[in-house]
Amino acid sequence: MLTGVQILLLGGDARQLEVIRKLTELDATVTVVGFEGLHSPLDGAIKAELEPTLFDAIDALLLPAVGTDDTGLIPAVFSDRELKLTEEHIKRLPKHCKVYAGMAKPYLRQLCNNEQIELIELFDRDDVAIYNSIPTAEGALMMAIQNTDITIHGSASMVLGFGRTGFTLARTLQGLGANVLVGVRRTEHFARALEMGFKPFYIKDLVSFARNIDLLFNTIPTMIVTAQIIANLPSRAVIIDLASKPGGTDFRFAEKRGIKAMLAPGLPGVVAPKTAGRIIAECLCQLILDDSTERGNGI
Ligand code: NAP
Repeated sequence: MLTGVQILLLGGDARQLEVIRKLTELDATVTVVGFEGLHSPLDGAIKAELEPTLFDAIDALLLPAVGTDDTGLIPAVFSDRELKLTEEHIKRLPKHCKVYAGMAKPYLRQLCNNEQIELIELFDRDDVAIYNSIPTAEGALMMAIQNTDITIHGSASMVLGFGRTGFTLARTLQGLGANVLVGVRRTEHFARALEMGFKPFYIKDLVSFARNIDLLFNTIPTMIVTAQIIANLPSRAVIIDLASKPGGTDFRFAEKRGIKAMLAPGLPGVVAPKTAGRIIAECLCQLILDDSTERGNGI
């Protein structure tokens, strides 16, 4: 249980509702800011305005999936007020307090670093990234279905990158009957992809595999789908880029060539906010519980 643990949660979207529900279930004292536009009850959490004193005696500060933007603004879909995380806020945190976010921009990293406050980026964790790959793959399929006039079954689908997202996506496409090509750079990934019934190739040879593709899904967070690759794709091909912003596609050239290409960020929160919220909530509660037990607060 989290009895006696003080948590401040700032902003976010429907995913945070799952986090609040789970934390209050565990009896934590949860204060939330940025939810005044939400009309449904908040499972015993206390709604508050963003006051510096809120930061004085808390054990954990929870920020949304994207943390803050480059200027400290915290997204809050249930509020039309501006929420800005400042140096003063972080300075007021007790030294044992940890800051949790899905991921962090340099602004947030710098604030925490300056005050020696531990920052935990949940999406960096393997378990969270693997669980998140499930709604991500489903979201990618949704986009593919919406943007093509063919079935995924029987399509020539290419997945670039065989990490946590690429692996799940390749398997999901295969499950629907697609012919799946997987672009890798390591020999062991080549071997595993072959064993799983995909058609593996090395990324350095991408240009020669691009000629007969219906769907191209990129998960590599660097410029990989270059003008040269796009020039070799058939005009019917659709590019769905899942890599974090700015993606790995030359979107300008794709538009020039008339090839449909889209960046698809944040799919778990878009297609399955409840599941995505549960994934964050499960991990977050376990981390806060471990931390609280370590400090001798756990019951
Ligand atoms: P990951 O497990 O690190 O996988 C990344 C893959 O890219 C690995 O196979 C890696 O190869 C490969 N790669 C990286 N740099 C490369 C390069 N220069 N050349 C060739 N291959 C390269 O990451 P992930 O968790 O799958 O996430 C992938 C991307 O998707 C990230 O940008 C992440 O932020 C994003 N993402 C987006 C969504 C969404 O909703 N759109 C959801 C989740 C994640 P090695 O294994 O050889 O290093």
